[in-house]
Amino acid sequence: MSDLYKNLKQVTPWEEIHFKCTNCGECCRHVKQQVPVEALDAYRIARYLRNHGEDIQYMDDFLEKYAEPVLLDECGYFVYFLKTRGDDDACIFLEDNRCRIHAVNPRACRTYPFVIEPDEKGNFTHWISCEREHHFVGPIVHPKLWIKKRFTAGDKTFLYMDFSKAKEIAMLLRKIPEDRLVSALLHFQFAKYGGIDLDKPFIPQYEKNMQQLIKNLTRMSNESMG
Ligand code: SF4
Repeated sequence: MSDLYKNLKQVTPWEEIHFKCTNCGECCRHVKQQVPVEALDAYRIARYLRNHGEDIQYMDDFLEKYAEPVLLDECGYFVYFLKTRGDDDACIFLEDNRCRIHAVNPRACRTYPFVIEPDEKGNFTHWISCEREHHFVGPIVHPKLWIKKRFTAGDKTFLYMDFSKAKEIAMLLRKIPEDRLVSALLHFQFAKYGGIDLDKPFIPQYEKNMQQLIKNLTRMSNESMG
């Protein structure tokens, strides 16, 4: 499983943090299972690569080539992370110390060194990624303003939707009997990544897919109890 959160420290939204990007590319190295590709990230990157001549028609084409699934919870809940390469486990999109998909890089990269997580009341908890110590010099930045500048309205809608459904989906997956888990996980994969048309707006499709997924998992878990 991913140890994505091992170097994170909670900070307050208005904490004063010294930070300066030196374009050293270090935050894109040693990132095995460290750069999550959420469904909205995958949609944006897949469209971008397709529009720049890559043979990509579906989100699955992008995921197969550039990402790997990693279990987040033993019930089978998984997320994708960008693949890495080389001895230094550099991100697959790092080329000549530059990000090849800078225009559409994942939310985790855009908001680095900060990470946010919505809480139950609709507020955000802020975290800082501490492992690259040499970054923490220079001008003062505030987590809240930093995030605000790099976080789109689409990101916000998606994040709330995804977090609010994640617990329910994990709970339902835990109720699925072992012999039906593969089938349940195929529904999960399709709803989050497979059943999205790159030529249609993302949010309405994702919302519909999540509703259908919850219906399917509820039915499967009820059948298992019947
Ligand atoms: S997607 Fe770009 S910014 Fe993010 S880790 Fe990879 S190379 Fe770095």
